[in-house]
Amino acid sequence: MKKLLGILLALCLLGTLAFAAAEGAHEHVWGEWLPSDGGHTAECAEDGDTLTVRHHTFSTGTISGSAVCAMCGQYRDGVFPLIEGAEAVSQKAEPSTQRGIFVARGMETPYADAENVVYAFTVAYVHNGALATWKDVSTVSLPLDVELPENYQLIRITPAAGDDSVQNPERQIEMESAWEDGVLSFTTKTPALYLIVTTN
Ligand SMILES: [Zn+2]
Ligand SMILES: [Zn+2]
Repeated sequence: MKKLLGILLALCLLGTLAFAAAEGAHEHVWGEWLPSDGGHTAECAEDGDTLTVRHHTFSTGTISGSAVCAMCGQYRDGVFPLIEGAEAVSQKAEPSTQRGIFVARGMETPYADAENVVYAFTVAYVHNGALATWKDVSTVSLPLDVELPENYQLIRITPAAGDDSVQNPERQIEMESAWEDGVLSFTTKTPALYLIVTTN
């Protein structure tokens, strides 16, 4: 009997140790990434650990101060807030396993130097505070609390490639989009800065 009790106790102890080990190696559940010294920082909802990661910015050379971090939204003149209800839905019948969470941030008339930009936003998948590969072409839907003009155009900024910005200059790609009941929708798998501009 005493021996059986000993074995049971040993098993309990092993179980506790295994549980503790698993807890130490858990996948952190990061809250919102907020601007901080040295980049952006989030806190794990489960153990209170914090992680700081460098900004990942997108910008256009045609607007000064346009660089915005797709993770925390920080830019020269403030912070692009999260777009509530934003979603990206894979167009594949069997979607790939996507790492990270979808983050969309945007702001109305963010650039004093570019009045034709009525709204600017970033979309990206974020894993542990850094950019994650966007696996599938997706339908992106963004509920926006703005009035868009009849003749708006959605533009994706593709940054200058490599070291030679002369040979591979920035491109501004006109995107197909729909604007219905306050929801902007379009198709992409490209994390980037997107601008909604008036065309006149
Ligand atoms: Zn954690
Ligand atoms: Zn940031």
